Amino acid sequence: MVHFKRVRMNGFKSFVEKTDVDIVQGLTGVVGPNGCGKSNLVEAIRWSMGETSSKRMRGGSGSMEDVIFNGTASRPRRSFAEVTVILDNTDRSAPPQYAECDEIEVVRRIERDHGSSYKINGKPVRARDVQLLYADMMSGASSPFLISQGKMTQMITAKPAERRVLLEEAAGITGLYARRHEAELR
Ligand code: ATP
Ligand code: MG
Repeated sequence: MVHFKRVRMNGFKSFVEKTDVDIVQGLTGVVGPNGCGKSNLVEAIRWSMGETSSKRMRGGSGSMEDVIFNGTASRPRRSFAEVTVILDNTDRSAPPQYAECDEIEVVRRIERDHGSSYKINGKPVRARDVQLLYADMMSGASSPFLISQGKMTQMITAKPAERRVLLEEAAGITGLYARRHEAELR
């Protein structure tokens, strides 16, 4: 299975300096005092996967720009946030267009007043392309592979239609539905 190899954050929430986190295969634990950025790290991953709802990001005022480092008493705020995710594809389990690549680099960047832009392996792409890449690998930004606080309760109390969306993501067929929808629009 494709796995996350490295996450690089730059200006994302509390990660004001360029911060690289290597993720080795197996079980990874993130430990640290309250407020050190553990949840922000998980959010950076979810955001880079194409999360488009600012409501599903924590603690914001409803604007996606809230993910940009907002400054402290001693540091000015930043004008952009960027998260780079390196996926390990040495086992070639990513979709066939990546058959030549040992690594896939996915970058999302947001600039104040300019919105988000995405790149896969250096090439500008749509949010949709990033979402499809992950949907094909059975792990969309809202899929059960990232379980945030309160998510279990939400799954248990979800309406049947909402639960179906979760099951479809887990079954890896969300990408197919999205492509059918795009084809029907043409
Ligand atoms: P806990 O153990 O309490 O769950 P945590 O390690 O998960 O803590 P986070 O929630 O990841 O901590 O980090 C919270 C910190 O991130 C807060 O200090 C908050 O001020 C800071 N933060 C969040 N968004 C921004 C932003 N846009 N700019 C600057 N700092 C931010
Ligand atoms: Mg937390």
